[in-house]
Amino acid sequence: MERREIAGLLAYMGRLDPRTMRTDPGELRDQVDQWQELLGDVPLATDHGWDARTAVRAHVLSSPYPVLPVDVARQWKKHSGDRLDRHTDPVPAADPDDVASWRAELLGTRHAVLAGQRPPNEQRAITAAEATVDPAVEARLRAIGSCIPPHVRQDLAPYRPAKARREQLVAEGLPDVLAVPCGWCGAAVNQSCRARRVVPRGGATSHRPMKTAHPSRVEAAAALAYDTHRQETAA
Ligand SMILES: [Zn+2]
Repeated sequence: MERREIAGLLAYMGRLDPRTMRTDPGELRDQVDQWQELLGDVPLATDHGWDARTAVRAHVLSSPYPVLPVDVARQWKKHSGDRLDRHTDPVPAADPDDVASWRAELLGTRHAVLAGQRPPNEQRAITAAEATVDPAVEARLRAIGSCIPPHVRQDLAPYRPAKARREQLVAEGLPDVLAVPCGWCGAAVNQSCRARRVVPRGGATSHRPMKTAHPSRVEAAAALAYDTHRQETAA
């Protein structure tokens, strides 16, 4: 609050509780100084439900003691704390790899909520999928198509050959073999084909995942892709 606002608030308070009214100009100036020192960072009113006059009025109604600046400060603290409790951090528009600006944006939003400059974001982030996703974030997700950035995916490719091959096939517009089960080796959807590990003299066998799919599975995937394409063009 500025001096002018403090003076207005004190005049309002004097009308509600004449004991607090100062008539001597020197005393009045001291009172304004004291209140401004203590309430300089408390706003007079915000667009989101705070008004220092309401706080003064509530105190006069509920307490036999004259209003002190700390009573107003305490109510403001409670009001802004309640707001922050109801606030869920929205997804920042900044690049997530740029930690400094990501953090700055998160903190900036919280400070704005605390200061009453913006309403708390009350939607829980996980249920508010489309409504609160920033357009910039959405565009980036659409471009990448995955939460793993492309260069990281490239670095990981040697360690996940089957997935890398699948991504490559899909990127080239070829049928996705992992979308159908394999009739040859019995691999389920999303699982790589497997080859039998045979030990001499038979007996113990195990499976090892294959980098490529069995030919019959490739054919089945192609047939499925063809059917899907035909249905899409017919519809
Ligand atoms: Zn197979």
